[in-house]
Amino acid sequence: MELYNLKKNEQRVTFAQAVKLGLGDNQGLFFPSHIPTLGNIDELLAKDFVSRSVDILDAFLGDELGSDTVESMVRSAFNFPLAVEKVKDQTYALELTHGPTLAFKDFGARFLAQCLNHLCKDEKATILTATSGDTGAAVAHAFYGLDNINVAVLYPKGKISVLQEKLFCTLGKNIHTYAVTGRFDDCQQLVKDAFDDLELKEAISLNSANSINIARLLAQICYYFEAVAKVPASERKNLVVSVPSGNFGDLTAGMLAKALGLPIKRFIAATNLNDTVPRYLETGEWAPTPTVATRSNAMDVSAPNNWPRIEELLKTQFWDKSLITGVKVDEEQTVAGLKALYEEDYLCEPHGAIAAFALDNELKADETGIFLCTAHPSKFQESVEEILNIHVMLPKALADVADKEILSLDIDANFAQLRGHLMAI
Ligand SMILES: *Cc1c(COP(=O)(O)O)cnc(C)c1O
Repeated sequence: MELYNLKKNEQRVTFAQAVKLGLGDNQGLFFPSHIPTLGNIDELLAKDFVSRSVDILDAFLGDELGSDTVESMVRSAFNFPLAVEKVKDQTYALELTHGPTLAFKDFGARFLAQCLNHLCKDEKATILTATSGDTGAAVAHAFYGLDNINVAVLYPKGKISVLQEKLFCTLGKNIHTYAVTGRFDDCQQLVKDAFDDLELKEAISLNSANSINIARLLAQICYYFEAVAKVPASERKNLVVSVPSGNFGDLTAGMLAKALGLPIKRFIAATNLNDTVPRYLETGEWAPTPTVATRSNAMDVSAPNNWPRIEELLKTQFWDKSLITGVKVDEEQTVAGLKALYEEDYLCEPHGAIAAFALDNELKADETGIFLCTAHPSKFQESVEEILNIHVMLPKALADVADKEILSLDIDANFAQLRGHLMAI
């Protein structure tokens, strides 16, 4: 598979290089030179999720990695369920919340872990990432127990929920967690300092595993096919998919699925108050404003870093911008969306509720809608309990870790200190 750099088109790389590099020269994103063809879509939709995902990812990666390798990576990565639930007439929920860390990021992170483990072979590598909660857990679980790869996760001490902390700081083995005295921004700065330290970068083969990595995006294509496969064939004509968006990796994957031939008529890009994209789609002006904190904190992003890939898809597929409808959902509407779903007997959380609310407002009489549920309600237990006035049960993944000991090291927001720890892993 060949990819090119969106900022420097003459830089062309293999999938292996793109996965290891993350970003290209001048911080450019990598984008596939060709979108493969998949054959008969109805036959593909008739397959089970994992077999179908093997076919999809083999079309991209088989020539470079070999079909047997792709198959074993997909089977190892996608070893947990997903579901499509009917919420009401014309409306379905795609639940991506049943993985080891109860968030959709499990799909991308687990497939990336398989790719890096395979591509690094006998070399050691170190994944360094900063988290404000969800990403760190997905990455830590995805790489847990892999032979060649150590993971270091930085998070702001006392600023993530205890349950979030328990989910990834109790693993041990190759997972090293650091509670930094400071804020999330301090953690991100430490990660930047580490990547700027070329001697350190070389010595421990640093990789960031962040959401711009192409391996994560390719993996996410697969669940859009599952969504369509589980909607009755008679309702597949005018499908609208609503995606709760932050960095817009998820929507990029959905549009790649459409480019592969999946029959999706149009997309809704649902954001919270951080509405750079809805404003851009309306005015044509890219004008990020300072990030605001909301209940849907995984979507608190005002400069979404995957947007150039969406522009490239629109251009190369000759799609009109009207394919995407941007919808800003404010805090009151988020609450209203969550309540409306609960009245339909559907328990959700703020991120999914934003997608559902936007869909409800935009769906036309002759369309069928699917919204993405990106986190399990129990991950946002406090918000959900307060809004719905109910008690939310913890699923097994969270209940199991609740009594475990936190293994993190406390460190200051001091790069020299972190460097010492990383060199000693
Ligand atoms: C990361 C995240 C999102 C946003 O996904 P993007 O690909 O960054 O647009 C939405 N919901 C939840 C729960 C997330 O963790």
